[in-house]
Amino acid sequence: METRTLAKRFQAVKLASAAMVLASFAAAQDPAEPPGGAPSPKLLPPPAGAIARATVDDKALAETVDDLVACGTRHSLSSWDDPKRGIGCGRDRIVARFEAIAKSSGGRLQVVVDRFEATSPRTHDKPARLENVYAILPGTDPALAKTVFLVSGHFDSMPSNVMDPDSDAPGADDDSSGVAVSIECARLLSPGTYRATLLFAAVSGEEQGLLGGKRLLDYVREKGDTVGGFLDNDIVGADFAPGAPHRVRVFSGGGPDGVDSPSRDLARAVEESAGRDAVRLVFRLDRLGRGGDHRPFVEEGLPAVRFTEPLENYDHEHQTPRVEDGREYGDWPKFLNYQFLGNVARANAESLRRLALAPAAPAQVTISGGVTPDAKLAWTAADDAERTGFEILWRETTDPRWSVYDVVAGAGENVLKGVSTDNRFFAVRSVGKNGARSIPVAAILKPPAPRK
Ligand SMILES: [Zn+2]
Repeated sequence: METRTLAKRFQAVKLASAAMVLASFAAAQDPAEPPGGAPSPKLLPPPAGAIARATVDDKALAETVDDLVACGTRHSLSSWDDPKRGIGCGRDRIVARFEAIAKSSGGRLQVVVDRFEATSPRTHDKPARLENVYAILPGTDPALAKTVFLVSGHFDSMPSNVMDPDSDAPGADDDSSGVAVSIECARLLSPGTYRATLLFAAVSGEEQGLLGGKRLLDYVREKGDTVGGFLDNDIVGADFAPGAPHRVRVFSGGGPDGVDSPSRDLARAVEESAGRDAVRLVFRLDRLGRGGDHRPFVEEGLPAVRFTEPLENYDHEHQTPRVEDGREYGDWPKFLNYQFLGNVARANAESLRRLALAPAAPAQVTISGGVTPDAKLAWTAADDAERTGFEILWRETTDPRWSVYDVVAGAGENVLKGVSTDNRFFAVRSVGKNGARSIPVAAILKPPAPRK
């Protein structure tokens, strides 16, 4: 046994060094860009005060899940008025938790019950009464307070039949777990102050056609605010495979060319905030044939990603609780892993913290300089006394992640001398004096000047 392990290790080392030789060989085959080598600017550390895992209250997460499961069902077409059974019971318990957090935050956290109507084939094509619950922490910067970073889970649930409001539908994982993350983020973040506004949501109507997610987007827009980024947590509580806790998956759709998009760059920002050992980026909109509340945001070109546990067990999603041939079906709290769920809460909270502390992202980021030796990047940005400058990012077209090429002080046009426009992708992000970075904005081809 021992000898075999050693031999295996030796082989792994040999393979790794072979890969390193290969990498340096490949790099030597490519011309240096720029010819003198890339700059190595000094980078600010991320903003102080990171959310420590130990500050996440795993017990509170479990209590939120148990509280919601105790409502029997939270089907969107069940009762909104019965305090003991139905989705209204779920709403009441979420409101109570947010109110308790608001009290301890000195009243800065505002709790909102947003009542609306929506129609879909899954409401029998008739307007259905629905409600979302929000806790809003207003930003302290007058300009940035109009930008909102959102985190959400859906509190509605379903049994096997999505049109059945009567059967038990505990919905522990789908999606009390996501609601618990949203509430825990409110608890972790509301003692602090942030430049942008944070909105912690629990929405309904997800199983009836993403109705609460669509409403959430409308709510932000009706207030005249901008979506800075949306973290959708849906099915984030279970981690049953050996070796748990594993990384949570973060799904992000690509742009028209399948590559960069605001959502993809939000996902990268989340990974950078939470750590590569905390999240596993999956570069697709969602799991195959599935949907979530981030979709309506993505369809509007807004940055939105979906968190979902590493592997799903379909016996415990969308199943009326029962035992068949000794096999247990149903979405119960006993199948959740709160160590994992706590990790998800930390990843969300730390991402939101950094994003809400950052300056506004640059706008109109373009690249030009094709058929010339130099790449030219240009962008605009509003004045911001708290910004120190911008990071120009680049990456090989085959790489998933950005790295910093250089740091510059001002917007406008920046020439990258001796750097081809063609061999890499480019992006720009704003950097605050506090070290917080905006979501990167990928450079698009500068439109040609209009002909006279
Ligand atoms: Zn769900």
